[in-house]
Amino acid sequence: MLKGKAALVTGASRGIGSEIAKRFAAEGAAVIINFNGSKDRAEKVKREIEAAGGAAALYQWDVSDYGACETAMQAIIKEYGCLDILVNNAGITRDGLLMKMSEEDFDSVISTNLKGAFHTIRFASRQMLRQKSGRIINISSVSGIAGNAGQANYAAAKAGLIGLTKTAAKELASRGITVNAIAPGFIDTEMTAGLSDKIREMAAAQIPLGAFGKPEDVAAAAAFLASEEAGYITGQVLHVDGGMVM
Ligand code: NAP
Repeated sequence: MLKGKAALVTGASRGIGSEIAKRFAAEGAAVIINFNGSKDRAEKVKREIEAAGGAAALYQWDVSDYGACETAMQAIIKEYGCLDILVNNAGITRDGLLMKMSEEDFDSVISTNLKGAFHTIRFASRQMLRQKSGRIINISSVSGIAGNAGQANYAAAKAGLIGLTKTAAKELASRGITVNAIAPGFIDTEMTAGLSDKIREMAAAQIPLGAFGKPEDVAAAAAFLASEEAGYITGQVLHVDGGMVM
């Protein structure tokens, strides 16, 4: 249970992030929903949480913007007086073969998926150090572990997120802060909705459990890593991928 905890989830307007926000709220956390462009969707997530008896607030900013992150994090810590859980979930894809990939597509994925997590960890960790407790969870990907043709930018960002996770885990452990990553495989969200039937079939054939996962599967792993019971786990990468990458 996460009763009394303040939890920030980036990119929680839809997909995996919105499920993590709902799950944390159902376990009693006050959830801070970050979003960038999808205001209506973020408001819907907030309404759903409140209708179920939970607490949620909305904070709009682009995670790749250092200054915007600093301003938002200061406002969040002022409003809640603490920050117990941070989930770096916001992410984008700009797929393409390496030799044709534009510099802009490479940079935008690194800025959002990797640098965005550095921004929030930088500001959240100051507060967590003062509290002498905290849970940081970074949503990486199996692409960051095994690589994936057509995703040089995304795989580099997600692999970088694992290095960031392990380094932050070592720097923050002495103050009771754990830092872990989750590496989802193929999860049914808008991010994977554009895949052709042929690619979906080929992907499912690589998954020992035989099907794409659900956002709820990732949310369950995040809830565990955020819980008191996970207090002796840090610097780890938990795969939620149906056995796709072992
Ligand atoms: P999604 O459905 O496309 O949702 C992406 C979320 O990220 C949205 O809430 C979006 O918010 C937010 N976001 C994007 N850019 C942002 C920015 N600059 N600032 C703040 N928020 C931003 O994706 P998803 O499938 O749920 O993926 C969530 C995470 O899991 C990502 O990190 C992704 O890489 C990772 N992942 C997904 C899969 C999969 O198969 N789906 C597999 C492995 C890892 P707005 O719409 O409000 O901008």
